[in-house]
Amino acid sequence: MTPEFETVIGLEVHAELSTASKIFCSCATGFGAEPNTQVCPVCMGLPGGMPVLNRAAVEKAVRAGLALGCEVQTYSAFDRKNYFYPDLPKGYQITQQERPLCLGGSLMIETAGGEKRIGIARIHIEEDAAKLVYGGGKVLVDYNRCGVPLAEIVTEPDIRGAEEAAAFLKKLRSVLRASGAAECRMSEGGMRCDVNISVRRRGEQFGERVELKNLSSFRSVARAIEYEAKRLIAAAERGEAAARETRRFDESTGRTFAMRRKESGGDYRYFPEPNLPPLVLTEEEIERIRASLPELPDARKRRYVSELGLAPFDAEQIASENAVADWFERAAALTPHRRRLAALTLTELFRLLPSDPESVPLPPERAARITDMAEAGEISAAVAKRLIERCFAEDVSPDEVVRAEGLGVIRDEEELERILREALREEPKLLTDYRRGKSAARGAMLGRVMRRTGGRADPQAASAALDRILNEE
Ligand SMILES: [Zn+2]
Repeated sequence: MTPEFETVIGLEVHAELSTASKIFCSCATGFGAEPNTQVCPVCMGLPGGMPVLNRAAVEKAVRAGLALGCEVQTYSAFDRKNYFYPDLPKGYQITQQERPLCLGGSLMIETAGGEKRIGIARIHIEEDAAKLVYGGGKVLVDYNRCGVPLAEIVTEPDIRGAEEAAAFLKKLRSVLRASGAAECRMSEGGMRCDVNISVRRRGEQFGERVELKNLSSFRSVARAIEYEAKRLIAAAERGEAAARETRRFDESTGRTFAMRRKESGGDYRYFPEPNLPPLVLTEEEIERIRASLPELPDARKRRYVSELGLAPFDAEQIASENAVADWFERAAALTPHRRRLAALTLTELFRLLPSDPESVPLPPERAARITDMAEAGEISAAVAKRLIERCFAEDVSPDEVVRAEGLGVIRDEEELERILREALREEPKLLTDYRRGKSAARGAMLGRVMRRTGGRADPQAASAALDRILNEE
């Protein structure tokens, strides 16, 4: 931020674990069902409902822990966190306070100053609360989300600004998706984040921290941090002590506002959950899950740099989405020009994909063919872009499209000269400008050839044809 002040940030990320049923009952977890249709006495908190732990949720959380380099605990336990709120029908949430499932991991992120390690203090599993729906002067409650399994991932206060926070979340999401622990669909609230933020003068003690609640997009997290850091620094400069409080971020104004003074742990009256036995895992179970983990984004990135010769930044982007990475490897096996394939993937393909791609509709062999044609100079960059769009949307071969629509590069200097003369007849001013010493006019004339050929003119041939015309008199 400012040279004098430092922003200190820790994140608490809630990720919905990708299980078919809820954590303590057999209700479905699918998103988008009619409100209050995926409920039962257990997740509605009716008297007599008894929780039974879903082992699939444990397995997914262990996957997350291993993928983040944590020590998975063979003995962990559940606690009740008591508070009163309409989204919590039991009046308490079953979570892990004293004995979490995972301790001590880390995640590497790319920052402006190079790679940085962000420590992960713990991961515990807990049940989600219901969703409150506001509208028409009413508050409605949808209990479908109540009891959906969550992993809460708590970082060390290692993050120093909005950019690092966004980089961490992006990387975390990519690792959780790749490991099979969670889908992290942002638009469905599958990954939500609380931000603990404080400011201090460099080298001094941490200031009082403020918690920003329930942010559901990378952009909101970054904006909320930027606003709050400025607010806290301004207060510190005036000599005011920050209050320990919970604040909300308002998307429409870009400001934060106080919600309530922060409860301390004691206010939640945690105590051991009497209806669930401790969670015991054997070393063998943990190792079996470790062995089933697929290759993770960092390992893929390193391999793309060393084996395929990609630039580290390109490799990181491609490795961050499993579906794209799988697709890229199939295409890369079919062309020697991996860097160009990577460039086309980043500039043209990512634009066409949804934010949580499950697959890539462009057949890898067609992408490889377009790459080879572009590399050989048979098609221009503009045509390569067009071909990727066509082959992404329809079942056509790039060669067919080039033949049928005459999209090959025009290298014939005589033809290019003819096109140029036509353009200059319509805009003689370009020529007179050039003769008067306006060198930019030359670029404009080449631009006209490109426009008239739909981007198919070979730049060198067009330039040579133009020189012939310009040298005439
Ligand atoms: Zn249920």
